[in-house]
Amino acid sequence: MQDSPMQRMWDSAHLSGGNAAYVEELFELYLHDPNAVPEEWRSYFQKLPANGTPASDVSHSSIREHFILLAKNQRRAQPVSAGSVSTEHEKKQVEVLRLIQAYRLRGHQAAQLDPLGLQQRSVPADLSLNHYGLTDGDLDTVFRTGDLAIGTDEATLREIVDSLKATYCRSIGAEFSHIVDSEQRTWFQQRFESVRGQPDFSPEVKAHLLERLTAAEGLEKYLGTKYPGTKRFGLEGGESLIPLLDEIIQRTGSYGVKEIVLGMAHRGRLNVLVNTLGKNPRDLFDEFEGKKVEGLSSGDVKYHQGFSSNVMTPGGEVHLAMAFNPSHLEIVSPVVEGSVRARQDRRQDEVGDKVLPITIHGDAAVAGQGVVMETFQMSQTRAYKTGGTIRVVVNNQVGFTTNKQEDSRSTEYATDVAKMIQAPIFHVNADDPEAVLFVSQLAVDYRMQFKRDIVLDLICYRRRGHNEADEPSGTQPLMYQKIAKQRTTRELYSDSLIQSKVLTSEDVQARIDEYRDALDNGLHVVKSLVKEPNPELFVDWRPYLGHAWTARHDTRFDLKTLQDLSTKLLHVPEGFVVQRQVNKILEDRSKMGAGAMPINWGYAETMAYATLLFEGHPVRITGQDVGRGTFSHRHAALHNQKDGSTYLPLQHLYEGQPSFALYDSFLSEEAVLAFEYGYATTTPNALVIWEAQFGDFANGAQVVIDQFITSGEHKWGRLCGLTMLLPHGYEGQGPEHSSARLERYLQLCAEHNIQVCVPTTPAQIYHLLRRQVIRPLRKPLVVLTPKSLLRHKLAISTIEDLTQSCFQTAIGEIDQIDPAKVERLVLCSGKVYYDLLEKRRAEGREDIAIVRIEQLYPFPEDDLAEILAPYQNLKHIVWCQEEPMNQGAWYCSQHHMRRVAIAHNKELVLQYAGRDASASPAAGYASVHAEQQEKLLQDAFTV
Ligand code: AMP
Repeated sequence: MQDSPMQRMWDSAHLSGGNAAYVEELFELYLHDPNAVPEEWRSYFQKLPANGTPASDVSHSSIREHFILLAKNQRRAQPVSAGSVSTEHEKKQVEVLRLIQAYRLRGHQAAQLDPLGLQQRSVPADLSLNHYGLTDGDLDTVFRTGDLAIGTDEATLREIVDSLKATYCRSIGAEFSHIVDSEQRTWFQQRFESVRGQPDFSPEVKAHLLERLTAAEGLEKYLGTKYPGTKRFGLEGGESLIPLLDEIIQRTGSYGVKEIVLGMAHRGRLNVLVNTLGKNPRDLFDEFEGKKVEGLSSGDVKYHQGFSSNVMTPGGEVHLAMAFNPSHLEIVSPVVEGSVRARQDRRQDEVGDKVLPITIHGDAAVAGQGVVMETFQMSQTRAYKTGGTIRVVVNNQVGFTTNKQEDSRSTEYATDVAKMIQAPIFHVNADDPEAVLFVSQLAVDYRMQFKRDIVLDLICYRRRGHNEADEPSGTQPLMYQKIAKQRTTRELYSDSLIQSKVLTSEDVQARIDEYRDALDNGLHVVKSLVKEPNPELFVDWRPYLGHAWTARHDTRFDLKTLQDLSTKLLHVPEGFVVQRQVNKILEDRSKMGAGAMPINWGYAETMAYATLLFEGHPVRITGQDVGRGTFSHRHAALHNQKDGSTYLPLQHLYEGQPSFALYDSFLSEEAVLAFEYGYATTTPNALVIWEAQFGDFANGAQVVIDQFITSGEHKWGRLCGLTMLLPHGYEGQGPEHSSARLERYLQLCAEHNIQVCVPTTPAQIYHLLRRQVIRPLRKPLVVLTPKSLLRHKLAISTIEDLTQSCFQTAIGEIDQIDPAKVERLVLCSGKVYYDLLEKRRAEGREDIAIVRIEQLYPFPEDDLAEILAPYQNLKHIVWCQEEPMNQGAWYCSQHHMRRVAIAHNKELVLQYAGRDASASPAAGYASVHAEQQEKLLQDAFTV
């Protein structure tokens, strides 16, 4: 109780002994409904001695005794003049404190947030005096101010209300009272109340603000004149974004931040690129004129482009990176988070002191798109946290043509989703640049101190349509009548600076001219831009650039070292009790390492990670249940049966080894895959893996696959070595657990954009994973991984297969069959191979050879032709798949196989053996599944 607000109230003597009856009344109310009393009283009552019983069981007599005792002590410590105590006054005092709390909670509803003044919001009843039994007659009465941080212990009600209105109801709508942590709440109260919501900025700061607004407005005007009617998704109406970002960057720089990654949609992007990141305006003009970027086959529109630069701040040079992004507005946020985490990991910045994410959102999208919720949810988890993101909503109060609140959301604010993680939210009127500056400062200070997300909702408007070719008054007539008369933020602010004599109108005009001249001359317009950036601030991608596609790479590994690593992986700390079945797996792995037992999938995969770590490559694996593996084959994380602690042997191979990060993810696909894409596009030397629980669950992340993974290199020149492991196989588990939807990936394949592989042996996954990192080429890798094959008696390898062989894009017949006798060649991928093999062996057929295509894209036509060469008597060639005809590889890959077959023998006609076309990926009835499976195997040998 020493320094609590309650104690201070008590110390004030207003609530001492004589008011026990009133307090008792409050306590009654609290027992009835704890939410009915002000929070301070609630927390006070909660702390009362309960003798181990719930608060409702505390007897009134003990409460009374407690208060009487407390009052006596207070009186002893601090005599009070009897005249100052009046029951009526004390009641009012309590109500005044409730009023103060109400302003903190609800003041934003009365704030002047809309620059257009169109928002019609009624002032909440609990901000009025009469709601608390107070009247205008009380305005001149002096009350204690409680914890209201206005620098005085007592003030008239009028002064209190005036300061509350100034603090909470001007251009900033502050929402922080929903935060449970009282330290954070108090922090905001003090920061806000001490300056009554509006610090007094120096003339230099004000002049700088105007300069930034001039730049923001100047660029749009210039582009509008030079390229009229060309789409640019201008920032007009939201120009305050530029000083906001400027402040965030400069201030975080002074905290020692070294890198900032920004993600934003297209509105205002060109402005940010030129005015914040320092992109040369001349390069932007080239883009307006449609010039092609060398080396990119398709390219992208200018308002999706990323950019990097270094700027100088009071704390030194800061590297800025704007993420490339597609038109799917919110999806870039988790990509930014992944990129930030990668940079933090590289700097061993575990708390997020050195790298900051900033994401910029639109109001309609932030309210509507589910990935926003996923990104908030990931923000404090072990695998994905980045020490807090500053999230800015450019809230122009309209989404394309939708601006009726009842159409665009069910929440009061577009930003309400942020409350799910108790993020503080500041709505700010964009026509008050000083308020914008203040919340930007608060955002930086909060993020750097508490390492949590914070949201700035920049309430502005959109001077033009959704883009410059649109006529907005067709759909928003009233709003655009108002906008037509609205003076710009820069005009309004320069007027106020002229009026307050901070600047003259000549100064204002000089800034406009200076900016326009710079654009005319194609000069950089960011004064803090570092012309010769320090390259140590970012990763050097040059070793990975310009490599042509190759399938082969030497992935062999020294036997003795592999066995040493294998032995180290069996070690667990003293006293660590491994679960019985897991122990059996470790015992088997010990035999596999010694060459005394065939190698299975789990062992080979683990050794791929161990050998890569040994060779200096970090490994990061995330996904649902990756520690154990969905099908219990991996056991990369061991769990102590005694105390539940976890041990990852791959983290303990040798002193100073690269990091091995393995995290079970939260139950998201979209944000998680986007995060890993961001991570992989920022960490070229690491093996970065995302594993789907079941392969088809990746369709929850289809946007990431379409817009980033398969097309990012060709649109933006961004290389990515991400690996996706997708469990796949028809084992009678029904429509949702059988297919990884191979056809989706194959349909997206072109220009060597990704690799799609279906390895069927432990050695193949080992070499495939090693190839992915050891080869300097960086291409996304999609692997269809097995389920039952993880334990299949035939899906085994030898230790020599790991140490001597390499990844085979296609595997020829393994049995001793005379090629001259072979008349039928069955081509297949994945698990069905073993079904075909067992059937052929069971039937003793020598006229059939079975060939596995282990890499479906890029399709290994040359390797397949080589495998086919000895079979000179072929009459039939069949593609056999488990998937229905409209799915799997048939439609997307048959032209490759046909080309090879015809080149081998022009009489050969490629046949199909597989399930009939089907709307659903797999049968749900086990009997139907078995029947179909038997038929397709039979077809492979007969069609
Ligand atoms: P950043 O730190 O993202 O700004 O990257 C710094 C520089 O590295 C960029 O300007 C690019 O030239 C290069 N770079 C970054 N990421 C990639 C990538 N995924 N693929 C190719 N080059 C990259």
